[in-house]
Amino acid sequence: MDSQDKSQKYCSNCGSPLNDGIKFCPKCGVPQDQGKESSGAFITSTDKSKTHTSYIAWGWVCAAVSLFIPIVGAGSITFGVLLIKDKRLSAAIPLIVCSSIFIILGLTGFGAGFFGAL
Ligand SMILES: [Zn+2]
Repeated sequence: MDSQDKSQKYCSNCGSPLNDGIKFCPKCGVPQDQGKESSGAFITSTDKSKTHTSYIAWGWVCAAVSLFIPIVGAGSITFGVLLIKDKRLSAAIPLIVCSSIFIILGLTGFGAGFFGAL
């Protein structure tokens, strides 16, 4: 019987009935928050890509340092694994491959040889 009332939305400001999907109250003009979910998801994805950018940046910093201090390479691989978990394979794979190479170079004395040549 009251099926009409179930889908009926009302203005959050003045309480007048609103049509489905309307963005502004026709009576008082106050914006209605029906689009809130999608804008929230957008903010979340922006935050995520910011996090990925810092993972990539710190991962490469650690990879470069691992040439001289191999243990730091564990940090860059950790960032690579975090990127894989978030399905950023195109960023994660070169980071992990290069940091592995850099760790091996660091362990085989690249840093010592580099400083020795100075
Ligand atoms: Zn209103």
